[in-house]
Amino acid sequence: MDNLFLIRYGEIGIKGNNRYKFEDKLIENIEESLKELGAKPIVYKTFGRIFVETDLATEDVLKKLGDVFGIVGICPAQKAALDVENIKEEALKLVEEELEATAKEPLLFRITTNRSNKSFTLDTMELNRELGAYLLENTPDGALGVDLEDFDLELTAEIRDQQAYIYSQDKQGLGGLPVGTSDKAGLMLSGGIDSPVAGWLAMKRGVEITPIYFHTPPFTSERAKEKVIDLAEQLARYQPELKLHVVNFTAVQTAINEHCHADLITLVMRRQMIKIAQRITKNRGGKALVSGESIAQVASQTLDSLQVTNQIAELPILRPLIAFDKEEIINKAREIGTYKLSTKPAQDCCTVFVPDTPETHPEMEQITASEENLEVEELITEAIENAEIIEL
Ligand code: ATP
Ligand code: MG
Repeated sequence: MDNLFLIRYGEIGIKGNNRYKFEDKLIENIEESLKELGAKPIVYKTFGRIFVETDLATEDVLKKLGDVFGIVGICPAQKAALDVENIKEEALKLVEEELEATAKEPLLFRITTNRSNKSFTLDTMELNRELGAYLLENTPDGALGVDLEDFDLELTAEIRDQQAYIYSQDKQGLGGLPVGTSDKAGLMLSGGIDSPVAGWLAMKRGVEITPIYFHTPPFTSERAKEKVIDLAEQLARYQPELKLHVVNFTAVQTAINEHCHADLITLVMRRQMIKIAQRITKNRGGKALVSGESIAQVASQTLDSLQVTNQIAELPILRPLIAFDKEEIINKAREIGTYKLSTKPAQDCCTVFVPDTPETHPEMEQITASEENLEVEELITEAIENAEIIEL
């Protein structure tokens, strides 16, 4: 194995007795992620750090692990023995590489030592000084300069119990918690901009998501469905396994259109979607639903509307975007790679069946009255039984 990476992780470090579960899940997710590149890396942990050894190219590993939640920093590193001379040699090699790659003269550097091994012969300050002096002596005059504040290169030496590690690059990771450490939830995924971002944010906090899409052919096109599959595929970058559920909603939708008051159609539709998504989610051991709603973005997202949609839910509905402006959601969508897919033209049921004057302050009695003649239990059971499951 030619390449070694030191993985820094943050918040999982403070989880007390459960800490090992978070670490083990992160290791598993790292292995899964690199497996997609066709490699079987060696991944192991020592207190507070995870290490990855692999033959894969550095750039490929950085890119892939950049999509793994729970990672705070990814550092391509060199091993050294617990011996000052060996540490100096490895540090010099790394600095020589940096000098070759840069035209800047002098290249300003500083040394940071993390010493968890308290029995190492030199303390932090001593090692900083010895290493710094050695690098200056062994590189051409004027090539290097020390600047503790305004440096181009930070060389970190980690002195651990069995081994020392040297690195200079620390690529920022996504942060968050490893997917799978915060249970499962169903994501109500439409082809829009919002719901993929909502799903991503839930995943960021360690929630494993099952996307559920309501398809209404022929009112909504195959293109709309393809778009949702593409979006789910994009979300699958961030989760080891993703099973998109496509539910045929046409029969239920038709019944709603026939039996419910026109102004309430969207709300009744949302309630039925929640009912179905909830059953699918519970069957899979999920404990919440995730949706892309944001206060007052549309008529069905006023506080009164959210109240009547909540009333049908037994599971909590998580709404990570509740206080996001559209602009903020769009920026996030760009960042996570879903924006371009979401803005491809295709009709969604929520845009096909929009009432002319949708109710913005519904009362529960109105909804109950409107749903009185709606008999959809069998249609719902059928829709769930026939849901298409697409593994991504
Ligand atoms: P988005 O931009 O995500 O499509 P939206 O702006 O279309 O949302 P609504 O139509 O009110 O807003 O939908 C609110 C939420 O309901 C969506 O964010 C999504 O979570 C869910 N939803 C809407 N339509 C569907 C659908 N066809 N299948 C699954 N979930 C849906
Ligand atoms: Mg929306």
